[in-house]
Amino acid sequence: MTDDQKALDELSKRFAVEKIAPVAAHHDETGEFPWDIIREAHGLGLMNVHIPEEFGGLGLGGVDCCIIAENLAYGCSGISTAIGGPTLAESPLLVGANTEQKKKYLGRMTEEPLIAAYCVTEPGCGSDVNGVQTSAVQKGDDWVINGNKMWITGAGHANWFFVLARTDKDAKASKAFTGFIVDGDTPGITLGRKEDNMGQRASDTRAVTFEDVVVPKENVLGEVGKGFLLAMKAFDITRPEVGAGAVGLAQRALDEATKYSLERKTFGVPIAKHQAVAHMLADMEINTQAARWLTLRGAWELDQGRPPTFYASQAKAFAADNAIRCARDAVQIFGGNGYSRSMPVEKLVRDAAIFNIYEGTGQIQREIISRTHLQNAMNGSIPI
Ligand SMILES: Cc1cc2nc3c(=O)[nH]c(=O)nc-3n(C[C@H](O)[C@H](O)[C@H](O)COP(=O)(O)OP(=O)(O)OC[C@H]3O[C@@H](n4cnc5c(N)ncnc54)[C@H](O)[C@@H]3O)c2cc1C
Repeated sequence: MTDDQKALDELSKRFAVEKIAPVAAHHDETGEFPWDIIREAHGLGLMNVHIPEEFGGLGLGGVDCCIIAENLAYGCSGISTAIGGPTLAESPLLVGANTEQKKKYLGRMTEEPLIAAYCVTEPGCGSDVNGVQTSAVQKGDDWVINGNKMWITGAGHANWFFVLARTDKDAKASKAFTGFIVDGDTPGITLGRKEDNMGQRASDTRAVTFEDVVVPKENVLGEVGKGFLLAMKAFDITRPEVGAGAVGLAQRALDEATKYSLERKTFGVPIAKHQAVAHMLADMEINTQAARWLTLRGAWELDQGRPPTFYASQAKAFAADNAIRCARDAVQIFGGNGYSRSMPVEKLVRDAAIFNIYEGTGQIQREIISRTHLQNAMNGSIPI
């Protein structure tokens, strides 16, 4: 780490331990959106950190963002998703917005604590983005959007939305969709009820309905028909960070399990002295280190200006699987206590599951990885 990264690491770690962790159980139980924490995180410069300096942000790179994401998720991955969620909506703008759009919509995110939401998934399609039915039709200088989005993080509090809509019903995916920036208070937007999710309950997830929502042509993002690419390129920025969040959760599971295994005694010794338990801790350590390096590799590729997709998917897939495994193993090490809501580790199991679903499931990451892997192989990269 550079000196700046060390300072960022120290700041975000302290914020997670002192501010986030103490209120995590409350937000998990009530599902209350963590506005107080968001305001503080914003004040400390821990939100929207990708936004370039010319638009009021810190202009930090992917590696910096992974450092923050891991630490915040160590405190509570539900709260860290509420804090980091806007990054997903901002990313298509970072990739494809013009200067005016960046000034207006990214600029305001840096001025005050606001939420923005990324609307791609629909009730009928998540993995298969080509199935998006929400339509946008040009009428004079405006576009009119109609359709239903589902599972939208932060929707209940969003100041604006990134919306992917079909603008050509006959074209293939790469030409059929357009990205729009839609102000949250535009008439015709209806929010669903907050989903009663299994984990990461501090984060707000809802359906959003668009009924004759009029959007000025200035809010078309990039070229008409090129929205699919923008929506997918956003993941190059966010997937390593989501992976880093999963690393934070896994590290928390490991730390909780380690502490407990040194305190809890059976057969006259701390359970950490039983090799079966110690080796579970060793596996958690190995895989969490490996997941951390994979997320940093994905972020590093992004920072170097190289296409990071192959590594970003590996980071997300591996870190998600590891978080789920570590949370499950922490429950096992806690024994009966692990199964109780009065202990911190059952929450980790519930929170971990989503890492393998949102921002592309584990299966979809493997589709991306295998496609590139096989392309490389066919291009002669196997030396034997
Ligand atoms: C809490 C939460 C927050 C979310 N936040 C957002 C958000 O902010 N914005 C947004 O747009 N979306 C969001 N999502 C949606 C999320 O991205 C989708 O749920 C996810 O992409 C999976 O889509 P699906 O639910 O339609 O499942 P499906 O696509 O129906 O998949 C069902 C199962 O089939 C598997 N599968 C599907 N296709 C294939 C294939 N080709 N090969 C192998 N297996 C396959 C999947 O991996 C999965 O296991 C969120 C979801 C949740 C639960």
